[in-house]
Amino acid sequence: MAINAEWYGRLRWVVRLNAPVESLTTEGDTHDGGVMVGGVRHQARLVVLATDGPAADHLLGETGGEWRSTACVYFATAEAPIDEPILLLAGDGPDAGPINSLCVPSLVSRAYAPNDHALVSVSVVGDPAVSDDELVESILHQAREWFGQPVATWQLLRVYRVRHALPDQRPPHYRTIEKSTRARQRVFVCGDRFDTASINGAIRSGHRTAEAVLRELDA
Ligand SMILES: Cc1cc2nc3c(=O)[nH]c(=O)nc-3n(C[C@H](O)[C@H](O)[C@H](O)COP(=O)(O)OP(=O)(O)OC[C@H]3O[C@@H](n4cnc5c(N)ncnc54)[C@H](O)[C@@H]3O)c2cc1C
Repeated sequence: MAINAEWYGRLRWVVRLNAPVESLTTEGDTHDGGVMVGGVRHQARLVVLATDGPAADHLLGETGGEWRSTACVYFATAEAPIDEPILLLAGDGPDAGPINSLCVPSLVSRAYAPNDHALVSVSVVGDPAVSDDELVESILHQAREWFGQPVATWQLLRVYRVRHALPDQRPPHYRTIEKSTRARQRVFVCGDRFDTASINGAIRSGHRTAEAVLRELDA
């Protein structure tokens, strides 16, 4: 959010939010290309497809690669279980419970929780084959081992299962990543799947694609 706000302030163009692209029209001469949004065609000489992989595959009519899932579970609590803005990695072994990492985002920015509360964020690797209730119960059980009785007061806020959380980039992925910038003659692509699966990778891929687009426009 903070990154978006920072960058948006520097743009000279209008950005339309909550306007999912329904289709790409890239055939024909350069004046026929563009994107369809809300049933209206927006003409463009070049299109940069910066969506997540599954959305890009859908728009391009392609079948994409493998993805890794995660579950994110959020709790509200009157008192943060830690007092530093750090990420705790579970070191108690895979049998101890589903928590992979835990942090308190409201210790990073007060804007993430009301003044009298802390926001606890728990990350779980994969999409556990249990119900949300069972997942939350096992998280709280493990957290009680870490922080003791105060965990009993944690209030569940939300469980998110993010199926396409990250592109599957198991080692030695970096050597085999396809660092493409172009999907069609007038459609460019970017995103973390064309670099390392991270914000930094997504930015680096976007930078490469922006350079390719500038070269194309100059040609
Ligand atoms: C739970 C979680 C925690 C993470 N934590 C970290 C971290 O701490 N550090 C880190 O470096 N990385 C982290 N990552 C990874 C990081 O978020 C991703 O690598 C990065 O966001 C990928 O950027 P992207 O631009 O490729 O795709 P995305 O961030 O997925 O952006 C794609 C955008 O396209 C939009 N879109 C989709 N379909 C359409 C459409 N039809 N029309 C218009 N727009 C569309 C989507 O709404 C979205 O805004 C995390 C990922 C997850 C899931």
